[in-house]
Amino acid sequence: MKEACGVFGVYAPGKGVAQLTFDGIYALQHRGQESAGMAVSDGEAITVVKDMGLVTTVFDERTIACLPGDLAMGHTRYSTTGASEWRNAQPVYRSVGGSGFALGHNGNLTNTDELAEKAGMFPGVVASDSDFVAELLAAEFPASVDGESAPEGALESALKTVLPLLEGAFSFVVLDASHVMGVRDAHGFRPLCLGRLGPADQPEGWVLASETPALDIVGATFVREIEPGELVIIDDSGVRSEQAIATDLTDPHLCIFEFVYFARPDSHLYGKEIHAARRRMGERLAAQAPVEADLVMGVPESGVPAAEGFATATGIPHGQALVKNRYIGRTFITPGQGAREDSVRRKLNPLRENIDGKRIVVVDDTIVRGTTQRAVAKMLREAGAREVHLRISCPPVTWPCFYGIDIPRRDELIAADSTISELEEYLGVDSLAYLSLENLIAAIDAPGAGFCSACLTGSYPAPVPVALSATVSTSTPRHAAPAPA
Ligand code: SF4
Repeated sequence: MKEACGVFGVYAPGKGVAQLTFDGIYALQHRGQESAGMAVSDGEAITVVKDMGLVTTVFDERTIACLPGDLAMGHTRYSTTGASEWRNAQPVYRSVGGSGFALGHNGNLTNTDELAEKAGMFPGVVASDSDFVAELLAAEFPASVDGESAPEGALESALKTVLPLLEGAFSFVVLDASHVMGVRDAHGFRPLCLGRLGPADQPEGWVLASETPALDIVGATFVREIEPGELVIIDDSGVRSEQAIATDLTDPHLCIFEFVYFARPDSHLYGKEIHAARRRMGERLAAQAPVEADLVMGVPESGVPAAEGFATATGIPHGQALVKNRYIGRTFITPGQGAREDSVRRKLNPLRENIDGKRIVVVDDTIVRGTTQRAVAKMLREAGAREVHLRISCPPVTWPCFYGIDIPRRDELIAADSTISELEEYLGVDSLAYLSLENLIAAIDAPGAGFCSACLTGSYPAPVPVALSATVSTSTPRHAAPAPA
């Protein structure tokens, strides 16, 4: 499972916004490693720099120094729609008459085919969701006379027209020459928060970011999460907000995997620190599925906090049994199962003295295809483990995601049609247990919080796109959740 983009925006005249944006997207690197980019405005012209690769590959000191401005936005990309190539790197930029705007998007729209047809777009012309939204916004700008700039407020007005038409999961940041704006979809699938630079009584700037560590790194104070359906506009008059998409604010659907896996451990969502929530998942997992063992280990790195919690709750020592090669990136093309298992071996290597003759509890956050867990179990047994018990800090993933996370087709999800004993046999473990959804939500411990858990339950909170619904079930009607298995 891969994250699907990080977005960042800053309005801070005189503060070196390109450097702040570099720092912000560097803190969001875990959300996407395929391409990075930023758009900087000096109040008149917008300059966009983007390329394939990590933030530190795309930007150096000289590039940052050449980007003076008062407001900026940045993006790190993992592709879920649109190929992983330069033309789909973000921000996307559109010039309309004498005006321009740039946009960076996180998520996945589910009704692009219908909207494209209505807008008369040729199939395939618009390669990605961000391009698509940019096209819709550009179409709402007033016609330019002799290249004149669009009137003040043109982008805001275009957003208010277009946003209610969009379905699916999206958090995006968009800027024109003098405004930075942030938007969250009606369900709040993807996170987006607001921070302040400077003291509360004399703000020096404002920041929008996918996750709170991007606020920390630029010295901003967390103000609040952007509400589902909310449009936030930041300019020289401060911060304004509007409910641009009508929604039920008492029924949000933040992707539950932000807590399980995607978000950084030092992030805060719904007022809860992710690392502490993951530890509690491990504690509850221990109470739900105890086992006698000599060592608890987390699959590096995202399984480690839950392993700590499991060890604390059981009194079994927590230790390291596998070392991760920290220089591994998303560089491997892994077309088949054999190649995927090889890539696990490149990534992880056993510490034999910690393993030999021991009964080991392996804690991981998710099983998708089972590749990692099967390779880990094999590695541990080859290194002398006497028993291998697998504990997973979320329920089985049995349905695809249509909201921007690349969870594969249902027939590739190993838990979709297998019993626990079939899985134990396939994965080569002595026992396997998953945290229940009830315990997962209890471990997050955010009263009143609402979640999407569609890939665990098959209950989709937003419409499933027509073209993709066949991957769930050939009879899945649009706007209807497929029946759970
Ligand atoms: S389907 Fe799963 S991965 Fe996708 S948004 Fe919902 S909880 Fe997250």
